This record gives sequence, C-alpha cells and structure tokens, in this order.
Amino acid sequence: MRVASAATSTSLRLAYGAMAGPSARRSFATTSRFMKAYGFIGLGRMGWPMAKNLRAKIGKSDTLIVYDVSSDAVQKLQKEADGEVEAAKSVREVAEKAETILTALPEPHHVQKVYSEMLEPATLRTEAPNKNERLLIDCSTIDPKTSEEVTEKVLSSGAGKFCDAPMSGGVVGATNATLAFMVGCPDEMVDRVKEVLGLLGRRVIHMGPPTSGLKGKLANNYLLALNNIATCEAMNMGIKWGLDGKVLAELINNATGKCWPSESNNPVPGVLEVAPANRDYEGGFGTALMAKDLGLALTALEQADLKPVLGQHAQEVYKAVQQDDKCKNRDFSVVYRWLGGKE
Ligand code: NAD
Repeated sequence: MRVASAATSTSLRLAYGAMAGPSARRSFATTSRFMKAYGFIGLGRMGWPMAKNLRAKIGKSDTLIVYDVSSDAVQKLQKEADGEVEAAKSVREVAEKAETILTALPEPHHVQKVYSEMLEPATLRTEAPNKNERLLIDCSTIDPKTSEEVTEKVLSSGAGKFCDAPMSGGVVGATNATLAFMVGCPDEMVDRVKEVLGLLGRRVIHMGPPTSGLKGKLANNYLLALNNIATCEAMNMGIKWGLDGKVLAELINNATGKCWPSESNNPVPGVLEVAPANRDYEGGFGTALMAKDLGLALTALEQADLKPVLGQHAQEVYKAVQQDDKCKNRDFSVVYRWLGGKE
C-alpha cells in the first residue's frame, strides 16, 4: 500500500515539475494583474464567513463568484455583500469564470464530486503566460488519498494547479479571518497560495508537497482527540478523589500533563471562564467533527500500514458520546459529562 502511494506521489512530483516550466513561473510572477476573478464553493459554517471576508478584502473591481447547493446560503451572502457577489448556476461555471478558486466542503465524496464537475469535460485549459494559471485550493478536511486523487485529476486535466489547505480555528477563526492553514503544494506555488490564504487567516504553514497539509492536520487532531479524553479522565478522577477542580487544573497546567484541553478548553465547569464547559458545552469544536477527523486519521494510518494503539478506542468513545442525548453535538470536552464528571 505504502509503495503504491509513494509511486503516485512521485508521479505527482513529476507532473508538477513538468507544468512548472519557465512560462508557468513567469505567470506566477505577474499574478496581481490577473488575479481578478475569485471563486468559492461550499458556503457552510466555515465557507460562508470565509467568502464574506474574501469579498471584503479583494479589490473593489475584482469579482467573486460562488456556488453552494443551498441557494439560501448564496442569497444570504449576496445580501450581506450588497450584491457584490455573483451567484453561479453550477460549480462548472465557477471554474470557467474564476482563476483562484477555494472549496470548503464537508466530506471526501463532496470534494470528489465538486472537482469532477469542475474539471469534466477537460476543456478548461490554462493558457499561461497570457492568462493567469488557475489555482484551486481545497480547505476541506478529507483523507490524503482522496486529495491525492483530486490533485492528479486537476493536473491531468491541464486546468491549473491544486493544493490541499485544511484549516484550524473554527467558525470564530473563519469569521475573524484568524484561521491557520496547513498547506500541501510544491515550493513554487507557495507564494501565490500564501497571498490568497493570508486574506482569510493569520498563519499559512507550508507543510510540504501535495497532501502534506492534510497529513499535518490529521496528526494534530489525532493527538487532540486523545489529549481531550485523557484530560477529561484525569480531571474526573481528581475531583472524585476530593480534589478541587481549579487547583488540580493549575497543577496540571504547571506540570507535565499540560495540554491544550487542560489549559485552554478545560472540560470542568467553573475551572476556566471562557471554556465551552461553562456554557453547557455549547459552541466550540463539536464531537461529530472530532469523530470525523479521527476517522480520517485512522483511515490514513491504515493506508500507510500503521497500527494505532489508542485511536480506535478513542473513536468508540466519541461515537458513544454522540449517541448520548445529554452530550450529542456539544463541544468535544463534553466527554467529561459522558464519564459522569461532577458539574
Ligand atoms: P458545513 O457542512 O457547515 O458546510 C459545507 C457546505 O458545503 C454546505 O453549505 C453545503 O451545502 C455545501 N456543499 C455540499 N455539497 C456541495 C456541492 N456538491 N456543491 C456545492 N456546495 C456543496 O461544513 P463546515 O463546518 O463549513 O466545514 C467545511 C470543512 O472544513 C469540513 O471539511 C470540515 O471538516 C472543515 N473544518 C470545519 C471546522 C468547523 O469548526 N466547522 C473547523 C476546521 C475545519
């Protein structure tokens, strides 16, 4: 399995190398004159505020054309942007009219469908250097294998270039343009990708070649999934033994157990004022999204012939939490409640 994937990565590198000839590079160097038409597909919880920020930050004469299967989301954006957003009738229309296109879609199969619809029939060829090369940026969290297939599809179509750029920062980050993006693309694409994503976030980290952004994101979220459960268990045991929650959290956060869930998202109500635990676990990072990311990480591990020691058990915990009516769809720190923690 790993050998096959390494071979595909090599073919990707070769394909990118072939496309990045002198004329392609020349077109990057002269981007600003051509980067006038932007597209956005997938106006959900993340995509809608991102598209709104994009419209506000690009030039007044630049165009933004959007598509979502939900016409409500499109109309709401048009209203918000005083009609300065064009509504496409299909994803293909976005691909035809825009040179820089972002997608923020829920699952791998949505990404596959949208990119197939954009690229087929394969008549959308980029004519660098006269026309700026089309850049397709996928901000969805999906598995690296699907993303690799999409990369190949874009390259073989000749329609442009593609990069994976999953994000973190949640809806608050999308709204405030403070997202962090983890990018997978060849070195020569980095400047242009950073220029675009810099409009929507605070940090753009180039992780390496295609799929590296997703691999980084999934490795981080795998760790987060485990740290969260461990924090909930540790807080629960300490409090059940009679310790004060705030004092225990202070100890952990000044000792070796410190992690993001203990310090910034503590699961015990009353310990940290700003944490979702103080709002009945509303908002924050939902258990369904955590289960999704963990599932993607486990799939990617399997594809790489790696055996997780803790991940599968953690996945069972998040699935059980989602089936509990008192915990379902709340911030993932609600695992503390699911464990029977004192509130
Ligand atoms: P969402 O479900 O709220 O939005 C997805 C949007 O895509 C919806 O508006 C839906 O109508 C649209 N869509 C689905 N199929 C489509 C198609 N064929 N054509 C056009 N539009 C289509 O999802 P979200 O919360 O915005 O997340 C988007 C991605 O970002 C996901 O991959 C998610 O894992 C990731 N992400 C989400 C968060 C978060 O806090 N919500 C944080 C980081 C990363």
